[in-house]
Amino acid sequence: MTRHFAIIGSGPSGVYAAERLARIAPDDRIDVIDRLPTPFGLIRYGVAPDHQSTKAVTRVLTRALTRDNVSFLGNVEIGKDIGLKELRDKYDAVILATGAPKDRRLGLAGEDLPGVFGSEEFVKWYNNHPDQAGLQVDLEQVEHIVVIGIGNVALDAARMFAKSPDELAASDLSPDLAERMARMRLKSITLLGRRGPEHAKFTPLELSEMGELRRARPNVKTALIPPARDDEPKTLSILRDFSALQPDDRKLAVDFRFQTRPTGFEGDRRLTGVRVENADGDEQIIPAQLAVTCIGYDSVACDTLLPSGGVFENVDGKIEEDLYVVGWAKRGPSGTIPTNRPESHAVANRVAEETVAAGKSGSDGLADLIREQGGRVVDFAGWQAIDSAEIDRATDDRPRRKFQTVAEMLAVLPG
Ligand code: NAP
Repeated sequence: MTRHFAIIGSGPSGVYAAERLARIAPDDRIDVIDRLPTPFGLIRYGVAPDHQSTKAVTRVLTRALTRDNVSFLGNVEIGKDIGLKELRDKYDAVILATGAPKDRRLGLAGEDLPGVFGSEEFVKWYNNHPDQAGLQVDLEQVEHIVVIGIGNVALDAARMFAKSPDELAASDLSPDLAERMARMRLKSITLLGRRGPEHAKFTPLELSEMGELRRARPNVKTALIPPARDDEPKTLSILRDFSALQPDDRKLAVDFRFQTRPTGFEGDRRLTGVRVENADGDEQIIPAQLAVTCIGYDSVACDTLLPSGGVFENVDGKIEEDLYVVGWAKRGPSGTIPTNRPESHAVANRVAEETVAAGKSGSDGLADLIREQGGRVVDFAGWQAIDSAEIDRATDDRPRRKFQTVAEMLAVLPG
């Protein structure tokens, strides 16, 4: 009897699980479901628009999603188009790969002022995610940006503004946003780390890139860099190199400030500065008209299933009988894209071993059910039509021009 597996979420962790199941359970069916008509989750909407080479992993993920026993069911929201319980009634096992799409909060005064954004909404905004189509980010008056956190998301957010328009020309940033960014009169970007440089969570390649930009120059105070050691993290030696840089004609300062803790956001009707405290207890206000908190994410409920402590409680990927979890929804927001592959494969192995066929229907009738409710399932061919339309409407050097709303995406689909 054929077994039917559903994976909720088509980001890397979900698709890597599908890839593995497709290989080890060739007679079974795997459906990868996504709330959006477009697959690939954070590859499309999290990886920065200027990191197109990172987005090239979609080729590998496409191979997995187009295997004979795998289907993509896009534009299907669990809890809206179909309940989790109803889905589980249709499938022998369900794997959650829903990520961690909620910003953690600092809990500081002024955090809700206009001009202060969490990285989840901010990154989705510059990546043209339909959820953030309406986010109001006023760039006109911005001269100083403060980015809170010293991980890769903070680097992405800082680099998007540190790069010159020329350096962003081959990105998939929307032309409208690229134009608004080009008009900015930006003077400084400050990254705030509450701990020392030895605790920075940047990966070396991403950090090095910050030293190679045309108009922006990294500043690191030598005093905070510990003496070199053979076994020190590579990021620390890169930061030491930054601290030894001689002045040059790059005008935009990217200040890395360590042992500096944010204590509040200043401003009356909108952000004017970020209040910080140094290791010695001194307080200071860093002027800022835009601040982005990049301090990590939590998972959100999948219909009736609630996360606890930011993730779905599990033991090695198993939540309960016939219900599993992978990726950030399983372990929290850590690791790079390749981290997900072995982990999702291990959970998929377990799913394949433990699932007993029970004559379930899988996706049979699902598209009809959703159509009756006024919805529309978008299959992989539908995504390919959206993909081609986005590529066709790109201008200049840009690889694509993303649609900003689901309605625009659905409009390019036949009948
Ligand atoms: P992250 O690497 O965990 O960094 C979060 C940062 O926020 C840390 O510096 C942390 O400091 C700081 N932080 C947390 N709570 C704070 C608070 N209350 N006050 C001040 N600072 C606070 O998370 P991320 O940058 O969001 O990245 C998530 C994952 O995606 C990471 O594994 C990252 O490598 C990955 N990613 C990779 C790439 C890439 O490969 N190009 C790009 C983007 C993201 P402490 O260390 O002191 O807690």
